[in-house]
Amino acid sequence: MMTGTPLFQKNSDTHQTMVSMGKATFGGGDIPIIAGPCSVESEDQMTAVAKTLIQIGVPCIRAGIFKPRTSPYKFQGIGHDGLDILQSIREQSDLAIVSEVLSIEHVMLASPYVDCFQVGARNMQNFELLKTLGRQEKPVLLKRGIAATLEEFLMAAEYILLEGNSQVILCERGIRSFDPQTRNVLDLGSVALLKELTHLPVIVDPSHATGKRSLVGPVSKAAIAVGADGLIIEAHPEPEKSISDADQAISLLTLQGLHRELIPIATAVGRTLPTLEEVAVPC
Ligand code: PEP
Ligand code: MN
Repeated sequence: MMTGTPLFQKNSDTHQTMVSMGKATFGGGDIPIIAGPCSVESEDQMTAVAKTLIQIGVPCIRAGIFKPRTSPYKFQGIGHDGLDILQSIREQSDLAIVSEVLSIEHVMLASPYVDCFQVGARNMQNFELLKTLGRQEKPVLLKRGIAATLEEFLMAAEYILLEGNSQVILCERGIRSFDPQTRNVLDLGSVALLKELTHLPVIVDPSHATGKRSLVGPVSKAAIAVGADGLIIEAHPEPEKSISDADQAISLLTLQGLHRELIPIATAVGRTLPTLEEVAVPC
């Protein structure tokens, strides 16, 4: 039973939660990027990604080892074998590791290896998972469900907040609509509205929003312009060979170019994109 105002609610113009992981802080002046493949495939793949991120100055790496696939016949992620790869990224770098969990068991397994738990669109209303994450001491990146209203999205976040974990980042990743030409429809207006409704940081996933690598750049720019507090982008050393989501993966070189192009857009809206000097660490 709700007794007062919900915990997600913004109470004043300056009421803003900052969520930190590794060298990144979401919700402040910086606009951190999380980049990496849809799925962890091998140690070589992740080392190549990690090296590039460090070189560019991207502070967080996507590293999904458990994949929520629409078809049970498709690659379900590398699973437990991926934990050693996460550990190796950890030993080689200061990159914050963001990894998706589908179940309470995954939370326990992945916890020692990750800096942030990702909850995918398909699990946005997995309330027992959300409650468990609410009892962890690590940030949670909560993606909007494929057909979730903003009320449902915010109430999903409330499940985490109510258990005591205030480190929640919301992620708009596109919603289901009638036109299959883009994988989803990016609801950019909702990003601006969420920024009014909640003090939680709001980031955008241009990869799942569009499903097409050529659109990742333009949409990332629009997201920053509209006020997003960060981006999560799928990037792969050999995009066409990605085991999952190959059509939307950008190359590491493209990521580097895009990062450069985003800097003036962040500046134009009074924000900063963390750059090389601020996050560089030896790999
Ligand atoms: C993902 O990030 O790889 C993913 C499965 O995204 P979503 O939950 O937004 O579909
Ligand atoms: Mn994906």
